[in-house]
Amino acid sequence: MSSKVIVTIFGASGDLAKRKLYPSLFRLYKSGNLSEHFAVIGTARRPWSKAYFESIIVESIEGLAASQEEAWEFASHFYYQSHDVNDKEHYVELKKLQTELTEKYQTEGNKLFFLSMAPEFFGTIAKHLKSEHIVDGNGFERLIVEKPFGTSLKTASKLNSELVETFDEEQIFRIDHYLGKEMIQNIFAIRFANLIFDQVWNKDFIDNVQITFAESIGVEERGGYYDHSGALKDMIQNHALQLLSILAMDKPESFSKEAIRAEKIKVFQSLVQPSDEELKHNFVRGQYAAGIIDGRDYIAYRDEFNVDPESQTETFAAGTFFVDSERFIGVPFFFRTGKRMTEKGTRVNITFKKMPSIFGEEVAPNILTIYIQPTEGFSLKINGKEVGERFSLAQISYDYRTDATASGASPEPYEKLIFDVLNNDSTNFSHWDEVRASWALIDRIEEAWANNKSPLHSYASGTMGPQAAFDMLAKFNAKWQWEPDNWYRERDLLK
Ligand code: NAD
Repeated sequence: MSSKVIVTIFGASGDLAKRKLYPSLFRLYKSGNLSEHFAVIGTARRPWSKAYFESIIVESIEGLAASQEEAWEFASHFYYQSHDVNDKEHYVELKKLQTELTEKYQTEGNKLFFLSMAPEFFGTIAKHLKSEHIVDGNGFERLIVEKPFGTSLKTASKLNSELVETFDEEQIFRIDHYLGKEMIQNIFAIRFANLIFDQVWNKDFIDNVQITFAESIGVEERGGYYDHSGALKDMIQNHALQLLSILAMDKPESFSKEAIRAEKIKVFQSLVQPSDEELKHNFVRGQYAAGIIDGRDYIAYRDEFNVDPESQTETFAAGTFFVDSERFIGVPFFFRTGKRMTEKGTRVNITFKKMPSIFGEEVAPNILTIYIQPTEGFSLKINGKEVGERFSLAQISYDYRTDATASGASPEPYEKLIFDVLNNDSTNFSHWDEVRASWALIDRIEEAWANNKSPLHSYASGTMGPQAAFDMLAKFNAKWQWEPDNWYRERDLLK
């Protein structure tokens, strides 16, 4: 890995930069993954001085540095340029600063550009980086782009064609911060390092796969943005489908980015396009009404700040995807995501097939649950005998949570992802082929919903979504396996 680099952040005064990027860069610095040979250029519209920018950096890493001295030493690597991304002249200044710092920090021409601003600016920035020779072919040149990558196949394709004018696919790292999460990466270990799972990870043994992204919060202050997006685009197009691809992929030849990518892309390309009839019955949208969570009253989505009082935007989306692969043909992959649900939690439930019973009572299926956040770990439900004189079956749950959850030792996704980019490891980023395939699928559902082919259901805040999402599984003789996660309730971590 080369730790010699100049990182240029567009959107340096923004929320993401302050909350996530600066602390992550600091952690990388502290762990020695960024050496003395690095500098960061922050650009944004505000007219900040270097001294002021440094004070923002020190503030953003509060509590992480061992001493004030260490914090200020780190911040001294940060430079600021007031920059309007639409103004070509500003890139001339940026080039000068880039050249000066390359010399000063001996970074061998290596450059990393982080676009932490609204995607409408990505194309302009990429164009000017090339026209003003900031991207000059010296050292490595990599581009990190934030989500959302487009709002439809059409807009995503336009954005991509603008980026590839300046950067090759191998140089573009499309962030899906879920892919940086510890437990998503752990799925590779669970699947490919355990014979007991490796052998049964297919249609012969798995009845259905359930992916839930539940949030207890509402839209908060994001109403203006969210009302034009909705749950399907915000969570399913990217996070849920990425997760699905890791769950459904075939075993890669090796644990290399090329091998993993190839298998993931195959899954995306095998996603079954739903028929008109399936669009009506296999997908459910909902919007939260007022309700109660943990004894507190919450208002309806349409009463939230910056939300259209007649909004048709879904705050809940559920559906059933199928993958047309040898391994998983016919197996439903259920997903659901929503705001103002009973509790926060991202989880995968793998429901194995039921066994014929010799006991005169039904045998419950084995269920493997992968806890992705806020707790990290997994549990496995198996059947045993209930203690006592008589013979009856009892479900036993083996639970495991990583200690890192409690100690906070899990790396922040952004720390892991920036580390990967420095290593030129694109495994945990979305390839264009994946993004393209996912939009093609999501566009169809969006279109059906826009044309009112299925109703917008209401659900009370504090529930797990509309009844229709439960009925959807019943049609497949399945039910959501979600159970409240007492692990973090007991530790008072339910925020
Ligand atoms: P923000 O609105 O807080 O910051 C935007 C930044 O862009 C500011 O620094 C602003 O000065 C700069 N900017 C705007 N117009 C400009 C112009 N014409 N020229 C130069 N600079 C300009 O946004 P954010 O919350 O930091 O989000 C940044 C990106 O990250 C977005 O794409 C967002 O979707 C994505 N994202 C953010 C979060 C988060 O937690 N904030 C999470 C996931 C994804």
